[in-house]
Amino acid sequence: MKIAAIDVFQVDLPYSGGSYLLSGGRVYNSFDATIVRITTECGFEGWGESTPFGSNYIAAHARGVRAGIAEMAAGLIGLDPRLFDRFNEQMDNLLTGHLHAKAPLDIACWDIFGKSVDMPVCDLLGGSTGNRMPVISSIYAGDPDDMRSRVQQHRHQGYRGHSVKIGASESEGGPRLDAERIKASLADAKAGEYFLVDANGGMTLEHASRLLKLLPDDLDFVLEAPCATWREHVALHRRSSVPIVFDELATDDASILQIIADEAAEGIGLKVSKNGGLTRCRRQRDIAITAGLTMSVQDTVGSDIAFAGLLHLAQTIPEKYLRCVLDVRDMVSMTTAEFDVSIVEGGVMAPREPGLGVKPDLNVLGQPVAHYE
Ligand SMILES: [Mg+2]
Repeated sequence: MKIAAIDVFQVDLPYSGGSYLLSGGRVYNSFDATIVRITTECGFEGWGESTPFGSNYIAAHARGVRAGIAEMAAGLIGLDPRLFDRFNEQMDNLLTGHLHAKAPLDIACWDIFGKSVDMPVCDLLGGSTGNRMPVISSIYAGDPDDMRSRVQQHRHQGYRGHSVKIGASESEGGPRLDAERIKASLADAKAGEYFLVDANGGMTLEHASRLLKLLPDDLDFVLEAPCATWREHVALHRRSSVPIVFDELATDDASILQIIADEAAEGIGLKVSKNGGLTRCRRQRDIAITAGLTMSVQDTVGSDIAFAGLLHLAQTIPEKYLRCVLDVRDMVSMTTAEFDVSIVEGGVMAPREPGLGVKPDLNVLGQPVAHYE
C-alpha cells in the first residue's frame, strides 16, 4: 500500500462559549483547524486533524501546521502508511520538531490501516479496554461564582471530571482570586469526581506557593502546569504535597522520561497533536504506565476528527491510569465530521467502526487549501 496524495483543509472553529480566557491575559474566540486527508493508490482515505490552541499557548501555530506539512509532503508520497515507525522516521528526516504538523499525517495513517483491516484504531493500538471513559469539562478562568455554576452545569450533563483554569495576574486578584476560584469550583464536589486545577504554565513559583497556602488541606485536586518552566515545576513539587500534572512541558518521549527521572509529577496530560500523533503517544502511554503516571488524554482543541484520535488512544489505557478524556467538541460550535459518539452518564467510548470511525463533511471542509501528489 502506498500514499498517493495528501490534501490539506482549513476550517475556523468558533469557541462555543464566546471568549475563552486563559492565564496571562490570553483570550481565544476561535481556533484555526488543519484537517488532512491521505489517499492511497488503492483508494483508502485516512483523516487527521491538528488544531493549536492559539499561537501563544505552546510553540505551535496553525499556519505552522500547514507550512510543516508543505515541507514534508513530497517526501511522504509513496510511503506505506501502515508502517508507522518508518513513516514517522521519514517525517523526522524531513523536518526537525514541529510535532503538531506531523500529528494529523500520523493519525490519518492509523485511520487508513484500520479501514484496510476492518478494525477500529483502538484495537490496533493494543485493544479497547471496553471501559466507558470519564469526560472532563473545561472551565475557563472567571468569576468564582460563575465558575461554580459552570461546573454545576457540566455536572448536570454527567461530567465527572473538571479542568478548572486559574492564573490571575496580580492586578486581577492574584493568588487570592485563584484560591476563591478553586474553592468555588470544588464547593459542590461529589465522591467520584476528579478536579484538575490548570494554570497552563501561567503562575510564578511565588504565586503558586502563595496560592497553596490559601487553600484548605482537604481539597481534593491535582495541580496541572502551574508554572512555565521545568525548574519551577520541580521546585514546587519538592516543597508541596499537592500532586502535580505536567501538560505543556510533557511534549515528547524525552520530556516524559525526564519527569520520571526527576520524580517531578504524578501524572501527565497527553495531547495528541501537541505530542505528534498516535504513534508517539502510543509509546508515551506505555512509558507512563510503566512509571505509574496517570494520564488525561486530551488535545489542544479541535473538532470531531481530533476527538476521534484522542478517544481511540484513551480507550486503550487501563482504568487505573486513565483519569479522563477531553471532549474537544464541547469547546467548538462547529461539526467537521459525522462521528457517532455520545456522552452517556458522563462517559464515552470509542466507536467500533473501522479506522477512526469519522465521516468528514466535505461541505464544511470546502476545497483543499493544498494538494500534494
Ligand atoms: Mg492543561
